Amino acid sequence: MTGRLVPNPAAGCGDPVIRSLAGAAFATIQDRYVQERHQIAAAILDDDGGIHLGLHVDAMVGRAAVCAEAGALSAARLSTHAPLAAVAAVRYPKPREPAQARLVPPCGLCRELLLDHAPGLLAVVHDGTALVLTPMAELLPHKYVGTKWPTPTLPCPNPNRI
Ligand SMILES: [Zn+2]
Repeated sequence: MTGRLVPNPAAGCGDPVIRSLAGAAFATIQDRYVQERHQIAAAILDDDGGIHLGLHVDAMVGRAAVCAEAGALSAARLSTHAPLAAVAAVRYPKPREPAQARLVPPCGLCRELLLDHAPGLLAVVHDGTALVLTPMAELLPHKYVGTKWPTPTLPCPNPNRI
């Protein structure tokens, strides 16, 4: 592939961003899959065209597990300050599952995490008929807004007067 990858939310399965991210995530999990240890890989594209990989790290206690998207976000931030453009994750099937590897949407925690660090990020999701690039903000409307860093002013009345 030549040229810089630029996400196009209107594109379908043949979109080069979707193919590149899905391909990178699939190649990673195909290579690194270990049952009950590493089942998902993620790939994040930055605005400079770099692709950053992450691997799901399972744990005996589910809450201790680390999602592939979190790993990819960390890898991206280790190598660039560029804004992040798009993310895809691929789940590899367990040996007893008849299904093939498939793209999976970010979980709720990853939606929060990715939106905190990349508000303009697009995610590769299946919309019921095709793979599409969807703004993360649409996957998690009304996300949590805390006080750790500046956030947009909310257009709502003073909560003390509601
Ligand atoms: Zn997750």
